[in-house]
Amino acid sequence: MTTTDQRINLLGVESDSLVKQVGAWGNKPFRAKQLLRWVHQRGISDFDQMTDLAKTFRSTLAQRCTLAPPSVITQKVSTDGTRKWLFDVGNNNAVETVFIPEDDRGTLCISSQAGCTVACRFCSTGHQGFNRNLTTAEIVGQLWKARHDIMQDMSAARLAAANEQDLRVISNVVMMGMGEPLLNYDQVLPALLLMLDDNAYGLSRRRVTVSTSGVVPFMDRLAHDCPVALAVSLHAPNDALRDQLVPLNRKYPLAELIAACNRYLEYAPRDFITFEYVMLDGVNDSDEHARQLVDITRQVKCKLNLIPFNPFPESGLKRSTNARIRQFSSLLVDQGVITTVRKTRGEDIDAACGQLAGDVKDRTRISERMQAFKSIPITEIAS
Ligand code: SAH
Ligand code: SF4
Repeated sequence: MTTTDQRINLLGVESDSLVKQVGAWGNKPFRAKQLLRWVHQRGISDFDQMTDLAKTFRSTLAQRCTLAPPSVITQKVSTDGTRKWLFDVGNNNAVETVFIPEDDRGTLCISSQAGCTVACRFCSTGHQGFNRNLTTAEIVGQLWKARHDIMQDMSAARLAAANEQDLRVISNVVMMGMGEPLLNYDQVLPALLLMLDDNAYGLSRRRVTVSTSGVVPFMDRLAHDCPVALAVSLHAPNDALRDQLVPLNRKYPLAELIAACNRYLEYAPRDFITFEYVMLDGVNDSDEHARQLVDITRQVKCKLNLIPFNPFPESGLKRSTNARIRQFSSLLVDQGVITTVRKTRGEDIDAACGQLAGDVKDRTRISERMQAFKSIPITEIAS
């Protein structure tokens, strides 16, 4: 619900709540399933088009419900198919959503908060401060709108040939956009449930990833409530440095974080945690850091994703050189650590970052970060 509009935004209601709600209006539970399919699978927002629902139910829906994704400020498509949406979430705040198509999958990166309280040194979202938590409808709305736009652009020929599988153009979702998803747990959890729901987006738990800076208590709750794949933003191999780079480490230091990762693995859909490690010149990229990192990887089953830092002026930090990243990763690979590094894509639309219309500035730079998930084996890094 919005403050000005008392209608229920159906994009934010997961199955159990919807069953209760339609029940309260005198409808059987299967009506909720039908409604979910109309909304999320067919992307229909006009209740009159929901032809298998009774007319009286449709008019109740029209009176009491709405279907409203956040409005799009800009949308860009790169020559390589990478696509970005900048969504207006009010009060001059915007969040970014990025789609990266590949041969065998399409990954959508979505945001969970406008700004972020964790304030990591190397993150532009963190520097921007915290504005507010996104609602479930705003989180799912990013997926709904992206899917809608992508489908619309598919050629008529492709659509005609499409089977169920082809229609699932977004095959993976990563909560790697703006914000710390586990600090907005109450709104993020129903969004994840909708992503997995067979009547909504039907993604498997392996194909939905939550990325966290390490909010230990909510890692445990996620393990019980909705154990999707987990990525942990590590960025430093010891507490002294991690305290500086990821201030949340002062609350949940590495030993606690690693213990939480091991507890999570008992429920996780994959048998490893993905550790993200942003490569900062002269800060966390020495041989000694690599050795300490190897020690950490011995304590939990994991894969390591090295992310070349995307600089921004306020950070005062620099990206490690390619040569340093290669040496650093070789040290890890030699010790048997599965390591990947990003490959650049979508640069032509990234170039326009920060040059958007009006007062809303795109400070999220998510498409760059997303490259971590567009990773290639370390052996293929371009020199
Ligand atoms: N708050 C969550 C998810 C959003 S951040 C988290 O921290 O995991 C998603 C990823 O982008 C994190 O791994 C984060 O460390 C990384 N990131 C943030 N700023 C970056 C930058 N300037 N360059 C490269 N990666 C960055
Ligand atoms: Fe927040 Fe993640 Fe950025 Fe840290 S890296 S400030 S947790 S969005």
